Amino acid sequence: MRKRSEGPRDPLRVAADHARERLDADVEAQIAPGTRERIHEAWLERYDFEAPRDAADVIDGVARALQRGVVHVGHPGYFGPYHPSVHPAGVAASTLAAAFNPQLAVRSHARAAAAIEDHTLAFFLRALGWDPTSAGAHFTNGGSEANTEALLVALGARFPETREGGLTALDGPPLVYASAEAHRGLEKSVRVLGLGSRALRRVPVDAHLRMDVTALATMVAEDRARGAQPFAVVGTAGTTSSGAIDPLDEVATFASRTGLRFHVDAAWAGALLVSPSHRSWLVGIERADSVTFDAHKWLQAPLVAGMLFVRERALLHQTFGVEGPYMPRRRAVDPDLFETSLSWSRRALGLPLFAIMASVGRAGLTELVERAIALGDELRAALTAAGFTILRPSPLPVVCFTHAALKAGSLDVHEVARRVARSGASWLSPTTLSTGEEVLRASVSGHRTRSSDVARLVEVLVRAVRD
Ligand SMILES: *Cc1c(COP(=O)(O)O)cnc(C)c1O
Repeated sequence: MRKRSEGPRDPLRVAADHARERLDADVEAQIAPGTRERIHEAWLERYDFEAPRDAADVIDGVARALQRGVVHVGHPGYFGPYHPSVHPAGVAASTLAAAFNPQLAVRSHARAAAAIEDHTLAFFLRALGWDPTSAGAHFTNGGSEANTEALLVALGARFPETREGGLTALDGPPLVYASAEAHRGLEKSVRVLGLGSRALRRVPVDAHLRMDVTALATMVAEDRARGAQPFAVVGTAGTTSSGAIDPLDEVATFASRTGLRFHVDAAWAGALLVSPSHRSWLVGIERADSVTFDAHKWLQAPLVAGMLFVRERALLHQTFGVEGPYMPRRRAVDPDLFETSLSWSRRALGLPLFAIMASVGRAGLTELVERAIALGDELRAALTAAGFTILRPSPLPVVCFTHAALKAGSLDVHEVARRVARSGASWLSPTTLSTGEEVLRASVSGHRTRSSDVARLVEVLVRAVRD
């Protein structure tokens, strides 16, 4: 208990003490379903917001609730989809972004924060092989928002008349193509843009779940013949379910030959850009008109640190530029972020990534990516040796797999995942592929995960399918 004489505690210090991850804890606190909800309800009932409470006590309570009530993605045994353990420099910089609260809508209001973000973004523009003086980039509230923005940019670039006239300016329905395995957020994107979900045309995939470019060509030709207006194709570099990388170079060639805009969703596997020995897996990405990449997937940034890269910077202002009575008219050469992106007020989302990159350096980033890839290979080998079957293999550190015990029907992937979570030692999640296959999926994205954690996951899985 705290002594009265110590005076009020600083809530920031209390938060900092709790923010150090408890690596000795279970990946997911072992509380029976149902009981967990009752615990949260009982605790929350104490907060009716009527009387004020000591802020440090409140923060202490929130931290304890989080400890028992969230999946600990920072645990080395966490093999869930793409949420990394966060780097302490990222947590600290995120706190600074909240504390200084720079308003990035207008550069002159937050020059240092804007400069830090631009400097960080330029690193990735160069990694893409693009010229930071002519390409545009900004942070987004995640990959899904970046994809939505990219499709709006593509629509206006292909059909400039839609910027003022909307979709009624077109003779036929505008269509976007993405593989059957592409992220489902794209369905929201086309609805948000007013295109309707049918405007997202799902292209069949090959045996490795990569976009079939011959099928794409047939679909585009048929759609054009019936009067539709294909305008963009989205290639995925690292699908969320299985880590498939579409043949980006082939898609780029097809897009440029047929007048489609080419966007690459590299939300997760864009991290390969920092690995000299694996960058070639993304060949063709440099030919895209725009690219999505999330630093909160593989680069240890806290949620959210999405990024959108656009090869022709002027398109951003043409897409998002506005003139308001209370915003001074600006020159298009140096527009503010509120005029070049969907958000208006903006948090300094790039500060954590800057702090992480500066702390670990290029070699540290490369190691982060390469270690995960090596552990993914180890995981595939260990699962195979233990009698599991790898499905639709990708070279990336995400593994889809099944087991004979699952085919028997008495056990399903959800039950296996629950048993793994109940071990407290490991955590993974099932997924359903576009082929209809229900599979177990383990991905390596935590920087603390080592060979021993991979071995433990396989042990836990062996017990889960046997018992
Ligand atoms: C995670 C992911 C998304 C969605 O990004 P958010 O940051 O969750 O909005 C989109 N596409 C791919 C390939 C992803 O891995």
